[in-house]
Amino acid sequence: MITRSVATVDSLTWQEQLANSIRDPKQLLKLLELDSSLLDGALKAHQDFSLRVPLPYLQRIAKGDPHDPLLRQVLPLGNELLAAPGYSEDPLDELSSNPIPGLVHKYHGRVLLIVSPNCAINCRYCFRRHFPYQDNKPGRHEWQQALNYIANDSSISEVIYSGGDPLATSDKQLQWLTEQIAQIDHVQRLRVHTRLPIVIPDRVTKRCIQWLTSTRLKPSMVIHSNHPNELDTAVANALGQLKQAGVTLLNQTVLLSGINDSLPVLQRLSERLFDVGVLPYYLHQLDRINGAAHFEVSDPQAKQLISELMAILPGYLVPKLVREIPDAQHKVPLL
Ligand code: SF4
Repeated sequence: MITRSVATVDSLTWQEQLANSIRDPKQLLKLLELDSSLLDGALKAHQDFSLRVPLPYLQRIAKGDPHDPLLRQVLPLGNELLAAPGYSEDPLDELSSNPIPGLVHKYHGRVLLIVSPNCAINCRYCFRRHFPYQDNKPGRHEWQQALNYIANDSSISEVIYSGGDPLATSDKQLQWLTEQIAQIDHVQRLRVHTRLPIVIPDRVTKRCIQWLTSTRLKPSMVIHSNHPNELDTAVANALGQLKQAGVTLLNQTVLLSGINDSLPVLQRLSERLFDVGVLPYYLHQLDRINGAAHFEVSDPQAKQLISELMAILPGYLVPKLVREIPDAQHKVPLL
């Protein structure tokens, strides 16, 4: 069944691709011809934060390689269950900036809307892997509260769609919400933070581009790509359509041990991003969320990597190395 779905993925709609994601660690190991010794740890970590891998992403993972950089982002491992000092369930203290359901107001001039509690992929390092989405699932009534909040604060000039992944919800819902926000005069910009164009490029539909670009709000999209192997031809085509429609495209990467903590990988990522019309924006130090300690790269190593990147790439291809700190008024540059 799964094998047939993988073979026919191109004929599926994005919603079907989403629905057919791999959610069983045993199936994942079988499909990727990986050693069954990984199963015990995978099943345990999957209980805490479930496995989810959409088929188009699965197809970019090399078979038989437990170190594949895309696999490592999605494969649950037993060491996620080990406690690590300094790690917690809410490392950014987002809950104290969550005044009403679905809205996070942390930085001056910008509010973040949890548009969808769902993601198309479950990234093992996710800083919201323990976020209480059940308390942040607004219906129309709660959205009206969020819209009133934005309308009542004239300092808010930018609204950010986040999640989960905002593009995991329907274009109909996104169009409605965007039209409501566009009626608030002091909001000028709309930013969408999403990994869906990377993991299911077919999500970039005509209707998606239409609601994003037919508003008076200036649209930007921040994609989340961590490795150049993620940026295949289908992703390039999807991003090309967004770019052509006038959407500003930026990327943010999480620096992850064993995945992208090397100069050649970061260089290739920046160059490939530019090839597909995206500017590198941030290189994030990992948020210290329970379960992700094995991905941490030390600050000295991170700074060394950025210094070396500056020596070989033009400045516009070097992302800013930053960390998010709970009480800070902005992301904190490390270099
Ligand atoms: S797509 Fe983003 S929000 Fe969703 S699991 Fe991955 S990192 Fe977390």
